[in-house]
Amino acid sequence: MSLRAGVLAVQGDVSEHARAIERAAAAHDESAEVIEIREAGLVPDCDVLLLPGGESTTISRLIQRSGIADEIAAHVGAGKPVLATCAGLIVAASDAHDDRVDALNIVDATVERNAFGRQKDSFEAPLEVTGFDEPFPAVFIRAPVIDYVGPDVEVLASWDDRPVAIRDGHVVGTAFHPELTEDPRIHDLAFFDSLES
Ligand code: GLN
Repeated sequence: MSLRAGVLAVQGDVSEHARAIERAAAAHDESAEVIEIREAGLVPDCDVLLLPGGESTTISRLIQRSGIADEIAAHVGAGKPVLATCAGLIVAASDAHDDRVDALNIVDATVERNAFGRQKDSFEAPLEVTGFDEPFPAVFIRAPVIDYVGPDVEVLASWDDRPVAIRDGHVVGTAFHPELTEDPRIHDLAFFDSLES
């Protein structure tokens, strides 16, 4: 089977995610066709969707204006997987406590922008993730704090006593950047586990 993976490409890192999806697919003897989403009309053809990091206020404005936001909501409504990382998670949340971010509300969680590890803008941490044998090398860059998760949200990993990886149905969100290491396990968990369940 070839997976059609849409990577939102209005702003932010795209090629690293494309490579991570391809690595995760290869581990399952599958292939992935990565489609860069810059305009409306492409999301409905995708099996899975990735909302990357970047600047959440910019991403939010561009997806609302282009109509991509409604298509993402329909994708989730149809039960198809999404991985939302860092700014992508901010956009996906039910509230980001910022008027410039129009909440997509596809995960039952709220976030506070730029609040994680305020003392240093970025850091790497070995993260224990539910179901992983070895810690995941998680890179945090001006990461959001997840300050509320709904009752049906599963916390997959925490750092500093705060959730940093969550799953709500077929939507997985991380406060960190799983594409910045060679380790495809988060993309695997988001896309291949959910497809098989
Ligand atoms: N600080 C960014 C924001 O609030 C997110 C940073 C990131 O995606 N690495 O949008």
